[in-house]
Amino acid sequence: MRMIMLGPPGAGKGTQAAILANTLKIPHISTGDIFRSNIKENTPLGVLAKSYIDAGKLVPDDVTVSIVEDRIQKPDCKKGFIMDGFPRTIPQAEKFDEMLEKIQAEIELVINISVDDAVIIKRMAGRRMCSCGRTYHIENNPPKVDGVCDACGSKLYIRDDDKEETVLERLKTYHAQTSPLIDYYENKGKLINVDGAKSIEETTKEIIAIIDKINEK
Ligand code: ADP
Ligand code: ADP
Ligand code: ZN
Repeated sequence: MRMIMLGPPGAGKGTQAAILANTLKIPHISTGDIFRSNIKENTPLGVLAKSYIDAGKLVPDDVTVSIVEDRIQKPDCKKGFIMDGFPRTIPQAEKFDEMLEKIQAEIELVINISVDDAVIIKRMAGRRMCSCGRTYHIENNPPKVDGVCDACGSKLYIRDDDKEETVLERLKTYHAQTSPLIDYYENKGKLINVDGAKSIEETTKEIIAIIDKINEK
């Protein structure tokens, strides 16, 4: 299964992608996670990405596209992948189609998780991250032990860009640059909408049912 998780920041893309990757045994590719691990290691890519991320803006398309192009050529992507947070602009989506065509592959499914801006702001305020890719929420999805990842035992952290003023900027960026992708994939007949206001478990069930239906065909 080659699929994309689309939706505003805080919709639950990362949460669902991590669960689905585990269930489907395919990699979860998050461009945000790739940037954050580069920021942590202080690589040149990390330094560049940080200046955009902290401002709530998108990292330039050419940089982002080349990261994804490298990543999807790794052997673990042969069986498929769950793309989380990419593409985020129309040019990225067009480049993505071209690179998939080159390896004779295509996107089978785009899940669009929709959530109101007001819910998003609440979710971001309580988000806690692990460097392993797991995401928690202090109220909605707390770890078993306070501040510690259930999966790997690492200490959880708060993202610099989850402060309210940056979240508002990211929402603007989403509405201007990313939301046009809904029509882009709708027109290709790939898009399925999922209501992100439901619980994490209900949302997972809904997405799994969609995937099962596609696999039956
Ligand atoms: P969220 O899931 O909360 O929307 P991500 O972890 O996906 O956040 O991304 C964090 C930040 O990394 C984005 O706000 C943006 O600055 C940058 N980023 C991630 N993916 C992309 C992309 N495909 N294109 C450009 N910038 C990106
Ligand atoms: P995204 O990757 O789209 O930015 P996340 O998966 O990181 O979103 O989720 C944002 C925050 O909301 C996290 O703290 C997460 O635990 C929480 N969350 C995710 N899905 C739900 C849900 N269905 N209901 C309530 N909280 C959720
Ligand atoms: Zn972890």
